[in-house]
Amino acid sequence: MGIEKETIEIAPGIRQIPGTPVVLSPIDKIINWARAGSMWPVTFGLACCAIEMMATGASHFDLDRYGIIFRATPRQADVLIVAGTVTKKMAPIVRRVYDQMPEPKYVIAMGSCACSGGIFKTYSVAQGADEFLPVDIYIPGCPPRPEALLFGLLNLQQKIKSEAKKWGFWR
Ligand code: SF4
Repeated sequence: MGIEKETIEIAPGIRQIPGTPVVLSPIDKIINWARAGSMWPVTFGLACCAIEMMATGASHFDLDRYGIIFRATPRQADVLIVAGTVTKKMAPIVRRVYDQMPEPKYVIAMGSCACSGGIFKTYSVAQGADEFLPVDIYIPGCPPRPEALLFGLLNLQQKIKSEAKKWGFWR
């Protein structure tokens, strides 16, 4: 009998032998499945967009149901949501928070300011978080609503699930 008939698919590419705790999967898929289901953003906000980020974590939108739980230290976080205007004075501090996070780690630019400087075309504002960080996901809007942040986080989950060997000794 084929493996499809003897097992059931419990997640894309991950199959379980019914009635047992045994799952069959390439190790990349199973580790990425766990990583994508436990993204921990660092608690860090810069300006008005951070209010929308807080609303996304509160009960009405409830990020916890995706395993997304804010951590109050970069040492325990793997996602940095740049939520707000980044002044040039603040950019080195944001970079330091990013540098203190363990690998593998991801960056979301939330809002027009973090994507491109937004309405602040001035000498004192960084014209996008990608001037000093490797941004993975861009979320436009001024501010983006919680649904937009959720959409960005779900896209980041898809990106994590498609990665190969981005963990452990293979990196
Ligand atoms: S994008 Fe708009 S809401 Fe977000 S930080 Fe900039 S000005 Fe504030």
